[in-house]
Amino acid sequence: MLRTALIAGAVLLLILALDHCRPEYRITAYCSCEKCCKKSDGITASGANAIQGYCATRDLPFRTVIEIEGVGIFKIMDRGPVDRRHIDIWFPTHRQALEFGTRKSRVKVLGLKGVQYVFMQ
Ligand SMILES: [Zn+2]
Repeated sequence: MLRTALIAGAVLLLILALDHCRPEYRITAYCSCEKCCKKSDGITASGANAIQGYCATRDLPFRTVIEIEGVGIFKIMDRGPVDRRHIDIWFPTHRQALEFGTRKSRVKVLGLKGVQYVFMQ
């Protein structure tokens, strides 16, 4: 009984430690305007038309679904930021993108196999 409790405690500590190690991402916002994209056709790098819920990063493959803590769930459908650990969220208007501003948040990959944490250099 005590042994089970000790193992459970160790596992919990490990989970907490891993969670703490997840790097923070810089989260910014953009829209399909000329200012944000140097073009205004609204077509993402994946070929799909930009819609709400899409975001851009170089760190993960297209169609990866992620949860940005405190912001929401998004699908990676665009490339944009050149730097790593940077996610750009698409908004329908430039004003909304400006209002979002810049934030820092941890990111979880939500995959078919459940939840994996992102460890990136
Ligand atoms: Zn814009």
